[in-house]
Amino acid sequence: MDFAIQIAYIISAILFIYGLKMLGRADTANNGNRVSAAGMLLAIVVTLMTSGLSFGWIIAGLLIGTIIGAFVAIKIQMTEIPEMVALFNGSGGLASLLVGWAEFNKYVSQDANVYHFDAFKLIVIFLAILVGGITFTGSVVAFGKLSGRLPGKPILLPSRQIINIGILVLTLLAGVFIVAMPLSIAAKIFLAVAIIAALILGIMVVIPIGGADMPIVVSLLNSYSGIAASMAGFIIANNVLIVAGALVGASGIILTNIMCKAMNRSLANVLFSGFGSDTAAASGASAQEQGEVKALTPQDAYYMLEAASSVIIVPGYGMAVAQAQHVVKELADILEENGAEVKYAIHPVAGRMPGHMNVLLAEANVPYEQLVEPEDVNPNMEMVDIAIVIGANDVVNPSAKEDENSPLWGMPIIEVDRARTTFILKRSMNPGFSGVQNPLFFKEKSRMIFGDAKATISAMISEFKDAQSD
Ligand code: NDP
Repeated sequence: MDFAIQIAYIISAILFIYGLKMLGRADTANNGNRVSAAGMLLAIVVTLMTSGLSFGWIIAGLLIGTIIGAFVAIKIQMTEIPEMVALFNGSGGLASLLVGWAEFNKYVSQDANVYHFDAFKLIVIFLAILVGGITFTGSVVAFGKLSGRLPGKPILLPSRQIINIGILVLTLLAGVFIVAMPLSIAAKIFLAVAIIAALILGIMVVIPIGGADMPIVVSLLNSYSGIAASMAGFIIANNVLIVAGALVGASGIILTNIMCKAMNRSLANVLFSGFGSDTAAASGASAQEQGEVKALTPQDAYYMLEAASSVIIVPGYGMAVAQAQHVVKELADILEENGAEVKYAIHPVAGRMPGHMNVLLAEANVPYEQLVEPEDVNPNMEMVDIAIVIGANDVVNPSAKEDENSPLWGMPIIEVDRARTTFILKRSMNPGFSGVQNPLFFKEKSRMIFGDAKATISAMISEFKDAQSD
């Protein structure tokens, strides 16, 4: 039986890996989800066949978890996904902490005759508790910031770095004692102290980070929850939990790295700089205006669009705010019917969460083949008649390649400033997330079309429709 269970675990691990690979492409992502879910179902069924389980507790847990999970998943809006993921990560961290704590109590209550010292088990118990505790409270704070229940601005306590290092060092010392003398009364007290310290550390490391950086933190905490789960897998000697935890840990850290690279920021800068606080914003490049801007009405824009044969649409956070994705698709369809080639250039950190633009455009049924990456579109930008920037700002800011002193310096951007004409749809001259002024607005070939993106695009569509009906 045990052999069959181990084989089934290997099959589930293969299904996880294969499903994860399929998630990497939009056209296979749905099936990737199904394959991974099948792997999880197999792992659960097989685990339930293990002898000596207490089914009363399992069914109670299953019912409570299913009800909460289904309720949250049905109620949640697409834009609230990072919050939901934060809570799920937190639950994973808490579960690992509880497994570690329960296993420690089981371990130390062994009969003296059968007791044998197992340093590896004690180390993984301690690490599951430490990483699980940090993940739990860190995720709760991230959830609070993303949902607006906590202030989004960084809360910068004086000497916070020193306090954090102090708590971490004391916790590790407690860990050394727990591993060295697990049977002592003091070990139980130190374990309680370590749990409390881990919970405090989770809060301390996330509160100094600004709300807009939370998606990166959530991705990092996702990785932590995987590491904690992997530790829990070692504790209870469950291979599929070790593998699944390692996959979550690795994929979370890879996504964190991709996001940091796309923003040209180091992870240390995200975690420790307090980006988004008043001081950080003030240190950014001048937010003052840098010359005259040329404004255009949607009617004027229509005449130019009508004559365009190649158009690039660059959506950003403002498209999400305006919920303009459906009208954007409608305009793109009209332009195509009019003979133009239309592509959507998607920057990896456009919006406020990974894949934000992809999700919105998929909701509006934009074909996946029309979405292009910055590196695909930039080389031919001179051939583009009109680049329409819809509520994007930082991801098209030429300071990233022109101004060494800009906080955006070095960030890969979509180089719409090289298109023949650039329309910029936004409501005002306000800067984007980085707080940095955008020289694109003042360039010779740029035209500002002020107003809510949805209203502006709807007005452009009306112009096309009016012209057709005349
Ligand atoms: P930005 O935040 O740079 O700019 C958004 C623009 O949208 C603003 O200039 C705003 O101008 C405009 N806007 C807002 N509402 C509307 C509206 N209703 N109609 C029209 N325009 C509107 O967005 P980007 O997408 O260009 O860049 C994303 C930024 O977020 C980057 O700096 C990135 O590093 C950061 N970030 C991204 C994460 C991710 O996972 N994607 C995670 C964390 C940070 P105005 O107010 O004048 O209308």
